[in-house]
Amino acid sequence: MRWDWIWSCPYDNEGWKVWMEDQIGKVTLQTLWEQKVEGCTRCRLHETRQNIVFGAGNTEQPDFLFLGEGPGANEDAKAEPFVGPAGKLLDKILYHMNYKRQDVYICNVISCRPPGNRDPKADELEACASVWSTQVMAVRPRMIIALGRFSGNALLGTKGQSIVQMRKKIHTWNRIPVQVTYHPAGMLRNEDYKQPAWDDLQKAMQRLKEIKKYATDAGPLFGGEA
Ligand code: URA
Repeated sequence: MRWDWIWSCPYDNEGWKVWMEDQIGKVTLQTLWEQKVEGCTRCRLHETRQNIVFGAGNTEQPDFLFLGEGPGANEDAKAEPFVGPAGKLLDKILYHMNYKRQDVYICNVISCRPPGNRDPKADELEACASVWSTQVMAVRPRMIIALGRFSGNALLGTKGQSIVQMRKKIHTWNRIPVQVTYHPAGMLRNEDYKQPAWDDLQKAMQRLKEIKKYATDAGPLFGGEA
């Protein structure tokens, strides 16, 4: 890709489009944080949280966006998603998928820790829906991995579907393919979930391969010319 040295943006039209989309994504995330998330009091969770946990990672059309449930104690303390035991397992899973944490984007359907790690309530999920959905649209992942039943149901617009039901097929959310699978915290509680979760991720990686065959943009993760 050639770069215009005055404007420091790609010279060719396709490269410019990709570059511009990435900039729009970053501006959207910054605006979302400043206008809606920072200091948020839209639900009761603001009374007990230490920090708001916003998404983190690759914002430039990553292969995968992982959508978790909500922060636990470690995430609440550090203001970062998946940094506790479930996060360590997610790192291992990513390693076996051939990714580093910085290659993907990670966020949650709830940005503040529910006290005692209880399940998020319907009105809390509702209050935070535009926060995760705007992040997904800004980041434009090639695929979404929904970790656990809360993120699965949020993406599918359903209530109370089980992981067993939702993982049966690849769904879509705003034309982005979605694979639902077990949450790493669930896998830590029950080892039996690890193999089916790995099967789901293999399916997702196979679908990604097919998507990339038809992709016009050869972004940084394609090993193309920088
Ligand atoms: N579990 C989640 O669902 N999200 C986190 O950020 C951490 C643990």
